[in-house]
Amino acid sequence: PHLNVTHYLRQHIRTVPNWPAPGVQFRDITPLLQNPKVFRVLIDAFVQRYMDPALRPDVVAGLDARGFILGSVVAYELGLGFVPIRKKGKLPFTTVEETYELEYGSATVELHADAVQPGDRVLLIDDLIATGGTMMAGKKLLEKLGASVMEGAAIVDLPELGGSARLRASGLPLFTLVDFG
Ligand code: AMP
Repeated sequence: PHLNVTHYLRQHIRTVPNWPAPGVQFRDITPLLQNPKVFRVLIDAFVQRYMDPALRPDVVAGLDARGFILGSVVAYELGLGFVPIRKKGKLPFTTVEETYELEYGSATVELHADAVQPGDRVLLIDDLIATGGTMMAGKKLLEKLGASVMEGAAIVDLPELGGSARLRASGLPLFTLVDFG
């Protein structure tokens, strides 16, 4: 992304210390959505990348829950469909599921079995990459259905946690707009 876009967006991300647990610096993206000018700069940064015919996906998948906000608007602007990857227990139809480890315990995400077709090239979106576990689980779900993830995209990367490096090492290209150390 253009350096000015990174700088502009960074100014509108709110850091909330010690939330939801002591020691966590929560990077709150809601101010980016609240301001219409900033919201447009944010969405356009993704849309401009993926409207390039070489990088155009077949479908956009969003990770529960902030990935829904970004992913659905990006999909709409690109003229593509959107599919939600949800926390377990929310999707009504036949699903595939993937369980992954968290710092304490585990989490399970689900995807409708007919959400993508074999061979689809999927853009996978979330707000933030920390350990990368959530995005990796989403990638595995899409691959279970025979689709491939052409790129993972997020507003924020926390590179010190090593998640983005692990995802890239697994063969997933990533596009992020703002790093926080
Ligand atoms: P991870 O699976 O560790 O990469 O965590 C990414 C998911 O957890 C994303 O859906 C984020 O919304 C959320 N998340 C993790 N850490 C933070 C943080 N420091 N600030 C905001 N959201 C976070």
